[in-house]
Amino acid sequence: MKEIAKKSNTEYILSKYHLTPAKKYGQNFLIDLNLIQKMVASYKLDDKTCVIEIGPGIGALTEQLAKHSKKVVAYEIDTQLKGALEELQSEYSNVEVIFQDILTVDLKEKVNALKKEYEKVSVIANLPYYITTDILEYLIESDADIEAIHTMVQLEVADKYTSKDTVSPLTLKIASIGTISKEMTISRQSFYPAHVDSAIISIYKQHAYDTRLTQLLNRAFTQKRKTLVNNLKSTYSNIAEVLEHYHIPVNIRPEQLTINEYVELLKELT
Ligand code: SAM
Repeated sequence: MKEIAKKSNTEYILSKYHLTPAKKYGQNFLIDLNLIQKMVASYKLDDKTCVIEIGPGIGALTEQLAKHSKKVVAYEIDTQLKGALEELQSEYSNVEVIFQDILTVDLKEKVNALKKEYEKVSVIANLPYYITTDILEYLIESDADIEAIHTMVQLEVADKYTSKDTVSPLTLKIASIGTISKEMTISRQSFYPAHVDSAIISIYKQHAYDTRLTQLLNRAFTQKRKTLVNNLKSTYSNIAEVLEHYHIPVNIRPEQLTINEYVELLKELT
């Protein structure tokens, strides 16, 4: 048993492979085994599930995912981590590592291929926070046939995403495919190097994603201070009539509509 997430083992692996956490890839490695075990338990994985892990690092989380799921396909951008991840693969035959930027992967196609072999596919990520929003948008809009997305985000961001009071194109896109919840918080001290207080959010997918919604939501929020009509009138010529039809005030702002209302509007907009 390797238990990579123990601080002493992480230090040993980093020195063995002459690695220093790379800032440009947002590398902050988890060094709290108990925490990772709790995290993995909350994901409710089983031997029918294939996990797509994004950003395995030196494999602290990957190792525990390998123990609790059928297969782990891990996408890592940093080829310097090859030695450490090959060592992990030599112990866990159900781990496959692909060195590729996740944003260049055709996720829908990949998941379709995996679903021929595995009943369920879930995505699990602990990523640099500066690309978390992009990656969440990409995961949702890919409309891949996944069960859930579990990802770590900055604590304040987790609170924002799960609060009813903050509405953005991303929170509406999440609401359009399923439910979101904050699972657990993670202290900044659980990372090497120390990071920021963080939390896990889980998105359980219940509905397919409608790509026309992307256009509508992105355009609706082009300028947040403007009214919905002003943001949308150049794309949808009948926006004012559609709002009237649904008895929605014409001066409504984009953040004042629910996802169900956007879905209804979309049916009428031309
Ligand atoms: N999962 C590990 C852990 O918890 O200890 C490492 C987490 S570290 C915060 C983020 C990892 O994501 C790094 O290994 C980094 O190289 C990788 N990464 C960053 N951008 C990526 C991208 N676009 N595609 C795939 N991996 C990426």
